[in-house]
Amino acid sequence: MHYTGSCHCGAVAFAFDAELDELVRCDCSLCAKRNALMATVPKDNFRLTRGDQALRLYRWNSGVALHYFCGTCGIYVYHQRRSNPALLSVNGSCIDNLDPESIPTRRVDGKGMSTVAGPSV
Ligand SMILES: [Zn+2]
Repeated sequence: MHYTGSCHCGAVAFAFDAELDELVRCDCSLCAKRNALMATVPKDNFRLTRGDQALRLYRWNSGVALHYFCGTCGIYVYHQRRSNPALLSVNGSCIDNLDPESIPTRRVDGKGMSTVAGPSV
């Protein structure tokens, strides 16, 4: 399936191809605060269609995962994973025409991993 999406203000927009048979909820300290349901998308299948200059980068803990959010509206858009840099996690609530609650949620143990190595997804 082909998907498009954006942040709240529209400064950042993206498109990707993936089969979304689940969304991931992580309980690491960052994901717990941003409360995101995330879609797993191969990095090679994802492209920014607008706003690469609008994105801001947040890194914490090990600094390996790259968390991108819109510098204007502050919405978390996606991140490049620590556990597998070839995979992105995309904010399910930023994806057009997708109800994140309509897709099965898989919970991952980010808290158990995060004290030494950062978020697991
Ligand atoms: Zn924005």
